Amino acid sequence: MDTPRVYRCEALVLRHRDSGETDRVLRVLSDRYGMFDVVARGLRRAASRRAGHLEPLTRVDLLLAHGRTYDVVTQAQARAVYRSLRESLELLALAGQAVDLVCALLPERQESAGVYRRLVWLLEQLDAASGGGRVALLFFVVGVLREVGFGIEAGRCVRCGRDLAADQDLVLSAAAGGAVCRVCAHDAGAVRMLDADATAVLRAVARGDWPAARRTAAEADLRTPLAAALDHAQYHSDQVLYARGFAAAVERLGERVVS
Ligand SMILES: [Zn+2]
Repeated sequence: MDTPRVYRCEALVLRHRDSGETDRVLRVLSDRYGMFDVVARGLRRAASRRAGHLEPLTRVDLLLAHGRTYDVVTQAQARAVYRSLRESLELLALAGQAVDLVCALLPERQESAGVYRRLVWLLEQLDAASGGGRVALLFFVVGVLREVGFGIEAGRCVRCGRDLAADQDLVLSAAAGGAVCRVCAHDAGAVRMLDADATAVLRAVARGDWPAARRTAAEADLRTPLAAALDHAQYHSDQVLYARGFAAAVERLGERVVS
């Protein structure tokens, strides 16, 4: 049986790069077919009507034709362009870290509907610009890690199994795969120490409890739990999470803090 020449999917544009004279190769995460590259021919021509539908961080309906190297975009209709998110450097820095994480952790062309839904959720949260951007990113990062099999254990020591439920301050080790008790922390390599407030947030996030995460985050400095979650992701990937550096630079600009 012949495979159909064209197919439809819904996707988020993650990144793009120039190709040839006027083309652009887009890395997309689709609802049904996972993450892959497609080519948009002539997209860099001034008259291209599709350009506005295919910017990074756009949710778009695509009609794709099978191609030799890349499948080819034949139609593109934006569903959401997240305008408020685009206008804020801090929110873009948060979204950039999410995109980095997806690109680093997902294999090509592997169905990832759960990660797709989580990224749509995050972009909607950031675009609503109602604060809570950083806790939304933390919730996303830990959720994606769980989705791809690298969940962060926050309830018991991952080395000796000791119950940590009563501990106020978590010690997290990326190499060990989550929280370690004080005894096991001594030879667990690099660790991040979370204070009581940050511990409460991370526990809510690890349980997948968004209302509790949002509530506890109001009191907490989220930089350490976010750094710990990204360490965890970095430990499981060969690709460097470059957007962390960009996000740190944005923070140093000392603009409005999105937490
Ligand atoms: Zn232990």
